[in-house]
Amino acid sequence: MTALHLGSGQPRDTRSHMMNYTDRVRLLMEDIVSRVPALSQIDVPSVLVFARFGRADTHGAFATCHSLMVADSEPGYYYWRDRRTGQLTRRSEYFVTRSPQVRVGGQRISHLISLALPRFCDQTLKGSRKEGAYPKGADWLAKLDTIVHELYHVDPHEGGIRTSVKADGRPAALTHTPQFFRDVIRMVHEYLDSRPDPAAYDFLEMDFEGLQRRFGGVTGTTFGGFPSFPQRFRDRLAEQPRTPRVAQVVPLADRAHRRHYTEADLDVRQFSAHAARVVEAPGPTHIVRGVHPRLAVAQAAHR
Ligand SMILES: [Zn+2]
Repeated sequence: MTALHLGSGQPRDTRSHMMNYTDRVRLLMEDIVSRVPALSQIDVPSVLVFARFGRADTHGAFATCHSLMVADSEPGYYYWRDRRTGQLTRRSEYFVTRSPQVRVGGQRISHLISLALPRFCDQTLKGSRKEGAYPKGADWLAKLDTIVHELYHVDPHEGGIRTSVKADGRPAALTHTPQFFRDVIRMVHEYLDSRPDPAAYDFLEMDFEGLQRRFGGVTGTTFGGFPSFPQRFRDRLAEQPRTPRVAQVVPLADRAHRRHYTEADLDVRQFSAHAARVVEAPGPTHIVRGVHPRLAVAQAAHR
C-alpha cells in the first residue's frame, strides 16, 4: 500500500487533529479566486481537490488538473499494422472515450485537481525551474505557484482545460506556453499583493516533516479505490461499423467502468513519507501500434 488508511480501530479525535491537506488547499484556492481577477470565473465548489501518493525523493508531477467535462470522443479503434507492408492486420472493436460523472453533495464536479503527497509539501524553489521566476523568494512560493498553475488550467467557460495563448494572444497548440508560466507568476504576485490573511497560506511554509510534527499527521481526500480515481474510460459502441475490414477484429476487454461517483466514494487517508511505491498494473497483452482517430483534445494537464 502506498498510504496508510485509518481504519475504524483508530480513535477519531486523533484524525481530527491531523491536518487535512487537500481541504486546506481548497480553502486557499477559494481565497486566490476571490483575489485574482483572471481566475474569478472559476467556481471552486465544482473543483475537487484530492490526494495521490508521490514520493518526495522521486521525480514526478506535484499536481495535475483533470477535466471531467470533455465531450465524448469520436468513435475510434486501436489498430496494428504489418511492419513490412504497412497493411492493417487487425483492429479492435469501435469505442468512444467518455468522462465519468462525479457529484459531491449534489454538485457536479467539473475538474479534479490532484496533489502528490508528500512530494507536493516538499517542493522547493531552490534548484527548480521556478528559482529564476522568484528571485530571492521563499521556498514555499513554489507551492503557491503550483496551486495557481493548476487553477489556471481550469477553463471556467468550456469546462475543459484552458487553451493557452502565445505572447501575441493567438491560441497555442501547447498547454504550457512561456506566456502561461509568466501569467502564473503574475497571478502569484497579484495574490500576495492583495494582502491575504497569512492564515490562508502559511501551511505552505512547512515541509512534510514539519507538518507531521506540528499536526501529528497529514491526511488528504482520496477516492475509495485508491490509488485509482475517476478517469476517462472506453465504451464499446453498441453498433459496430464493419469497416475497415481486417483479418481479425479484437474484442475490447470487458471491463466494468465506473460512470458515476459521489461523496460515498471519497475517503480520507493518512499519508506517510516512506510508503511503498505503487505497483504498476499489468499491461495489455498486445502492444497497440496506433489509435484511430488520434486523440487531439487535452484531457489532463500534468505539472
Ligand atoms: Zn500544467
